Amino acid sequence: MDYKHFSHPHNLIIHRAYELGIQVNCSGCNSPCDNTTTAVHACHPCNYFLHDHCANAGRYVKHPCHKAHPLILLPHPTYAGNTFICNACGHPGKSFSYCCTPCEFDLHVGCAFLPISVTHKAHQHELSLSYGVPVVPRRGSNTDHEYCNICKNILEARHWAYSCQNCDFNVHTACATKEVVPGLYQDD
Ligand SMILES: [Zn+2]
Ligand SMILES: [Zn+2]
Ligand SMILES: [Zn+2]
Ligand SMILES: [Zn+2]
Ligand SMILES: [Zn+2]
Ligand SMILES: [Zn+2]
Repeated sequence: MDYKHFSHPHNLIIHRAYELGIQVNCSGCNSPCDNTTTAVHACHPCNYFLHDHCANAGRYVKHPCHKAHPLILLPHPTYAGNTFICNACGHPGKSFSYCCTPCEFDLHVGCAFLPISVTHKAHQHELSLSYGVPVVPRRGSNTDHEYCNICKNILEARHWAYSCQNCDFNVHTACATKEVVPGLYQDD
């Protein structure tokens, strides 16, 4: 069974993940396909693979972090250098992005579908997703960052975080979540 996906010029074949028998990365989210229990969509001549959930990610989402415009799923960044910088995590991306071109606003597929709240063994309360780190002003310093309570590295105020505001507990989204499956917001 094969079909045409908008992200690739050739037809993709749908495999059960265990049929592949090789380690591959998803060309949509750049994370490994081998730990998935669902299907993998493949163009073997091009070494092009997609998780089932990445292949089925909606072409656009109305995302609560960017209410002004819908975000469009782009298979490749349209910027010079063929990379984008994710507004949520600050890391570059080379594959799928949810993009608002007029605003130059871009999200990794994984970042676009982060759950609204998570629990993590590092903290006793539920952590909620905030589109920007709530920075607590400190005497004598004009800081634009906090420190992640899990990995202890810098957490830029402009990036997203999971927070417990009562406890001033903030962590990187990637530190609090393992696997993120697209699906949120798509029914809108
Ligand atoms: Zn993927
Ligand atoms: Zn191909
Ligand atoms: Zn990101
Ligand atoms: Zn916009
Ligand atoms: Zn961290
Ligand atoms: Zn707390």
